[in-house]
Amino acid sequence: MSYVDEILERVAKENPGQPEFLQAVTEVLESLRPVISRNEDLYRRDAILERLTTPERSILFRVPWIDDSGKVHVNNGYRVQFNSAIGPYKGGLRFHPSVNLGVIKFLGFEQVLKNSLTGLPIGGGKGGSDFDPKGKSDREVMAFCQSFMTELYRHIGPDTDVPAGDSGVGGREIGYLYGYYQRICNRYEGVLTGKGLTFGGSKARTEATGYGLLYLTEEMLRCNGHTLSGKTIAVSGAGNVATYAIEKAEQLGAKVVTCSDSTGWIYDPEGIDVALLKDVKEVRRARLTEYAKARPSAVYHEGRGVWTVKCDIALPCATQNELHLEDAQALVANGVIAVAEGANMPTTLDATKYFQDHNVLFCPGKASNAGGVATSALEMSQNSERLSWTFEEVDAKLKGIMVNIFHNLDDAAKEYGMAGNYVAGANIAGFLKVVNAMLAQGIV
Ligand code: NDP
Repeated sequence: MSYVDEILERVAKENPGQPEFLQAVTEVLESLRPVISRNEDLYRRDAILERLTTPERSILFRVPWIDDSGKVHVNNGYRVQFNSAIGPYKGGLRFHPSVNLGVIKFLGFEQVLKNSLTGLPIGGGKGGSDFDPKGKSDREVMAFCQSFMTELYRHIGPDTDVPAGDSGVGGREIGYLYGYYQRICNRYEGVLTGKGLTFGGSKARTEATGYGLLYLTEEMLRCNGHTLSGKTIAVSGAGNVATYAIEKAEQLGAKVVTCSDSTGWIYDPEGIDVALLKDVKEVRRARLTEYAKARPSAVYHEGRGVWTVKCDIALPCATQNELHLEDAQALVANGVIAVAEGANMPTTLDATKYFQDHNVLFCPGKASNAGGVATSALEMSQNSERLSWTFEEVDAKLKGIMVNIFHNLDDAAKEYGMAGNYVAGANIAGFLKVVNAMLAQGIV
């Protein structure tokens, strides 16, 4: 049996009930077959794949907190420190009812390769809770964050593990988490990223994932003889990634005609009004029905449906497994030329294959959404030197990093005879750097 098959069997056996983790490992290892077979004896000798698919440390903890009526609740807290071969663990915290150990492990595993791809010295980790911030008062969110940090603080540090935001964890939550860390540790240091601009945050971090997605998409199109300007784009999601992806796409001359949330979606043939979207989602924290009420050109639909709209480019920016095979078929039938993932693993394996089989340019999230973590690493650099760079400086660095990521994965795919297969290219480029560091550092 090949080393890859052996590991896939082992991962399936040892991680029952964790389908997302198994899916992520399968996607990565399948595309790494040519690389692994070139070095099979060496990797097997050092148990590289066993170590790569087993977190260095998984921390599970209880998070008790009291709501505004005095009732006590208990949620599950997680921090999975996956791999620190090339730098301190780095990766977001997700607060969402769907969070469980398997989801955090899938995200942490992907994060290892993503962080490697940025070219910056950061290892991979991920964390979060099944706490749902939706519908909670600020006071309740603060109570939860303080309780969460009461355990997390002992496992993190600026040179150990530097968490950031993810779904459900934005500036408000990072502020509460940071304030409490500082209080109980009595240290003012860059232990979290995504902080407010008045207390160590980096300019352009809020925009970074969405903007970075567009910088990479533009480069991918350019290298394949297309332009972004003038194109029609379908975006899913209406959170941090989606909002700033829409903003940058429109700045670059494209028209974005959709966005969505977990209950429905908007079709706006005039182009999404980003200022209105920010007001509805970031200020009022309301449903997209409010967007449609305020915008005569927009139509609101209940349920799923973003991918039925005719577009040139699709940018899934909501959540994992939100773009299925039938969505890919509809997009291809409507003439889509490129898909770049803003979310983590939003496209199912069969949908990804369908795009690739139909010559659609397809960039996986670990490359195309790496702008967020890359800018988080820039925030760590600014914190270490106790300086703060301008928006333009950070944005220019972000653009350089995203263009560089695209060329790294493009080159890796070509080197292994898979030109144009950016899924394989991203996995190979990310993998080789981490594995070479692991080989050099011995059995740890
Ligand atoms: P947010 O919580 O800000 O937004 C998520 C959006 O997706 C919301 O509009 C949400 O709707 C919607 N959504 C959630 N679940 C579903 C669903 N099942 N069906 C349809 N829509 C859904 O998260 P982010 O924008 O920060 O993150 C989005 C994705 O991008 C995640 O996969 C995250 O891991 C990834 N990512 C984020 C980075 C960042 O810097 N923020 C960096 C790299 C990756 P509703 O408002 O109803 O909840």
